[in-house]
Amino acid sequence: MTELRLEGVSKRYGTDGDGTTALSSVDLTVRDGEFFTLVGPSGCGKTTTLRAIAGFEEPTEGSVSFDGTEMTGVPPERRDVGVVFQSYALFPHMSVAENVGYGLQFREPPGGTNEEERVAELLELVDLSGMGERSPDQLSGGQRQRVALARALAPAPDLLLLDEPMSALDARLRESLRRQLKRIQSELEITTVYVTHDQEEALAVSDRLAVMSDGRLEQVGPPQEIYGEPATRFVAEFVGDNNVFDATVRERTGHTTQVDHGGRTFELRDVPADASRVSFCVRPDALSQAADRNRITVDVETSEFLGETVRVHGRWNDHAVVLRLEEMPGEAVTVGFEPGDEHLVETS
Ligand code: ATP
Repeated sequence: MTELRLEGVSKRYGTDGDGTTALSSVDLTVRDGEFFTLVGPSGCGKTTTLRAIAGFEEPTEGSVSFDGTEMTGVPPERRDVGVVFQSYALFPHMSVAENVGYGLQFREPPGGTNEEERVAELLELVDLSGMGERSPDQLSGGQRQRVALARALAPAPDLLLLDEPMSALDARLRESLRRQLKRIQSELEITTVYVTHDQEEALAVSDRLAVMSDGRLEQVGPPQEIYGEPATRFVAEFVGDNNVFDATVRERTGHTTQVDHGGRTFELRDVPADASRVSFCVRPDALSQAADRNRITVDVETSEFLGETVRVHGRWNDHAVVLRLEEMPGEAVTVGFEPGDEHLVETS
């Protein structure tokens, strides 16, 4: 059972001046037993954060602690973390069971079990019972990642760190593996930090997530909050297909405020009294053909049939717009949203 804390963690590579700042003052607490995800675009600092937690990288400033114990200077092998990387990194000349057992090389099997029992227990946990004698090249990509997971979990680490463990797998396999991962994680109640650039995956698996950009945490919270109440424009644009509009405040009537975007008036709710400019976002599913307020006519560019819904990319007033409709549209479609269905991301 472990709570993980990062305080003021910064990491700079190279010398001052021509160096790269990979992390800037990151403060983060991952709660005991939590499935926590770091999500963000390529180069935002996710892997660097994970490496600082694992001890492969020392922060330039700040501290990493596990349950209040300072970890600075503690080498990776003494941190009690299990790590799974994107590449399977299994030993090709060892059997599946030997690979899993390798995780016990430096540590006693937990709970009074012997190595053989522990390996069998782990293979059962990842649904690979009976495959212990196979060699890694006789396994599918998804099975190999489950072996890597079993190996990381074998010594019963305090923390599980996963760096894009599914990015080499196809979409269907990713989905089934992430369900298994979620099941295993909640069964073991192990504090887990998961790195992905895939926002859909992050929303699907996490108890809480941090959206990162440019070495900083933009927002930390549960999936519903990150999706429904993005704190910044970056989060609004990165998470889910979002329509973000910049507008100028015109007039207020009670809770309703009229704002202007490109010569068009929108009615919004609960705009702060001192705001003269706002950026607001409207989710594709909040733009509906049935809404009779804030209507816009969108020129359709592409329509993707997704089964239950159709995702439409189009343009309105030189602005890219994404919609989610129930049926395939024609060349243009008129949609609207009720005041209050928008979410403000910036005001000034
Ligand atoms: P990706 O999703 O592409 O793996 P990431 O979010 O994990 O990206 P990091 O790998 O943490 O990003 O990298 C953050 C920044 O630090 C990037 O600008 C990267 O180029 C830089 N960086 C990472 N490792 C090093 C290194 N060893 N030396 C110099 N710069 C580095």
